[in-house]
Amino acid sequence: MPDIAVYPGSFDPITNGHLDLLQRALKIFDRIIVAVATNAFKKSLFTIEERMEMCRVSLADYPTVSIDTFDGLLVKYATGKKARAILRGLRAVTDFEYEFQLAMMNRRLEPELETVFLMTGLRWVFLSSSILKEAAVHGGDIVGMVPEIVFQKLQEKFGLK
Ligand code: ADP
Repeated sequence: MPDIAVYPGSFDPITNGHLDLLQRALKIFDRIIVAVATNAFKKSLFTIEERMEMCRVSLADYPTVSIDTFDGLLVKYATGKKARAILRGLRAVTDFEYEFQLAMMNRRLEPELETVFLMTGLRWVFLSSSILKEAAVHGGDIVGMVPEIVFQKLQEKFGLK
C-alpha cells in the first residue's frame, strides 16, 4: 500500500511556501493529494477551477502529486482516499493555535488518521496567501514568491503591469 497524504487548503492561490512544504513531504510520502477546499464559509479571490488550475500547472513536474477538490468533512474525504495522514504546514507560532485545534478536532472525528506537520523553509515563514494578495492588490512586487502561472493570474486579476 502506498503511503498517501492529503494536503488540504484553500490554495487561494498556491505559493512557493506551499511548494516548499510539498517538496519536503515528498521525501516521506509516496503520493500526495493536494485537496483544494471549496470553502463554503471562506470568501476566495480565485474560483475553485482557477485555484485547481494554478495548482495543476505549478505541480506538473511532480508525477506523484495529484490535485483534487473536496467539500464537507476533511477526515471523510481523506479516509475515502486511503490516506495515512493529513499534511499541514507550520510557519511561525501564530499557526500553532489554529492548527492544534484543527488537528484535535480531526483526531476526535477520525482517531485512526494522523495529522503530520512540517516546518516550512525559513524563506517562506512570512508568506501566506492572504498577505500575498494584500501586497499584489497594491502593486507590490511579488516576483519569486509564487509560481509563474500564479504571478500571471494575479497580474490579470488586479490589472497590474
Ligand atoms: P487554509 O485556508 O486551510 O489555511 P492555506 O491554503 O492557507 O489553507 O494553507 C494550506 C496549508 O499550507 C496550511 O497547512 C498552511 O499552514 C500551509 N502553508 C501556507 N503557507 C505556507 C508557507 N508559506 N509555507 C509552508 N506552508 C504553508
